[in-house]
Amino acid sequence: MTESTFYGSDYEALSAFDPEISAVLISELDRIRGGLQLIASENLSSPAVLTALGSTLSNKYAEGYPGRRYYGGCAEVDKAEELAIERCKALFGADHANVQAHSGASANQAVYGAFMQPGDTFLAMSLPHGGHLTHGAKVSFSGKWFNPVPYGVNKETEDIDYDEVERLAKEHRPKVICAGGSAIPRLIDFERFRAIADEVGAIFWVDAAHFIGLVAGKAIPSPVPYADVVTFTTHKVLRGPRSGALVCREEHAARLDKAIFPMMQGGPQMHTIAAKAVNFKECATEEYAAYTRQVIDNSATLAKELDARGIRPITGGTDTHLSLLDLQGVGVTGAEAEQRADAAGIVLNKNAIPFDPQKPNIASGIRVGTPCVTTQGMGVEEMKTIAALIHTAVTQGDGDADGSVSKDVRAQVSELVTRFPAYPR
Ligand SMILES: *Cc1c(COP(=O)(O)O)cnc(C)c1O
Repeated sequence: MTESTFYGSDYEALSAFDPEISAVLISELDRIRGGLQLIASENLSSPAVLTALGSTLSNKYAEGYPGRRYYGGCAEVDKAEELAIERCKALFGADHANVQAHSGASANQAVYGAFMQPGDTFLAMSLPHGGHLTHGAKVSFSGKWFNPVPYGVNKETEDIDYDEVERLAKEHRPKVICAGGSAIPRLIDFERFRAIADEVGAIFWVDAAHFIGLVAGKAIPSPVPYADVVTFTTHKVLRGPRSGALVCREEHAARLDKAIFPMMQGGPQMHTIAAKAVNFKECATEEYAAYTRQVIDNSATLAKELDARGIRPITGGTDTHLSLLDLQGVGVTGAEAEQRADAAGIVLNKNAIPFDPQKPNIASGIRVGTPCVTTQGMGVEEMKTIAALIHTAVTQGDGDADGSVSKDVRAQVSELVTRFPAYPR
């Protein structure tokens, strides 16, 4: 490392000054390396992304946009933001990109700020059917200050009920219609949503937080040609820094830029924006595209193998990086499954399934995703092993790390992560 490259990530200096926090950094790395990370919203960003995050760009105040800042000394950070914007537009074929959102939720706030007044009506997927807190949950600003009309999935297909979306749109005449969520295993019919939005004169917003990485790798169809605005996180399948961004049609550019800053945010995090630029460059490579195809192949195999063991994927399978699994057939709750898997070194989350008879903090399902294990280089053969391990841990484990089943599964997990290490040394 030379000083001219950057002056961050000096672990030696940190551990000398602050042994408590440096110990957390190391033990968290050990935790990631020691288990199977199957949380569908997580990934393992590259050393290049982490380097930009740990840089002195963190220090710079740069309220405003490149060339139009409220502070001096912004020439260098302007270059970083311009690169991030240009790469983001090119990656998604978008008219306009704003890369300043601090997170997915912040990008979503900008959509409300740009297109709605408090009290206005919008349509979005209900949280228990796979939506997100920021899509109108009562505990969120979106549900407190606006009027959400939730749509859900069809009881038979367990996929989005497009006829219901159309019926609700005609009945409530929403300002905005939102598509996207946190537990949707299937592709979304953006063309149908666009047609419904046009019928009632609504803005069509896609919250692509979960699946934007698959779009970047061209492994699934893009919402960009159909939507007025697409918001997303940059840390899920996309594999960048923990942050957010949005792309939109030219006609909405000024309005959305003003909604991000100064309406919702103050100074942008320039180190994170530099890391987003690095990530967008990574995502434009054939290597990343191949990764996203493998993420989907792995996800499909994992769902199929779990199905064969009586753990049923909602909608019968998956087209994406995640599946939502119904545990009622094996007589285990989501909360039990999460704890038993954790005791065996498998990290996943309990999740409500559509029409769930259990309370959300118990739930009848789990959600599993393949972004992390695929980054580690695992393929479909390993997914077959993982499905068997999940099934054993969830149905036979007692949730105790010292139990014999947990120990046995943990040993097999260790063997897998030794062959496919996260952050290889
Ligand atoms: C993850 C997610 C978000 C929120 O992202 P944060 O970065 O956690 O704020 C918003 N919408 C959807 C659909 C998500 O899955």
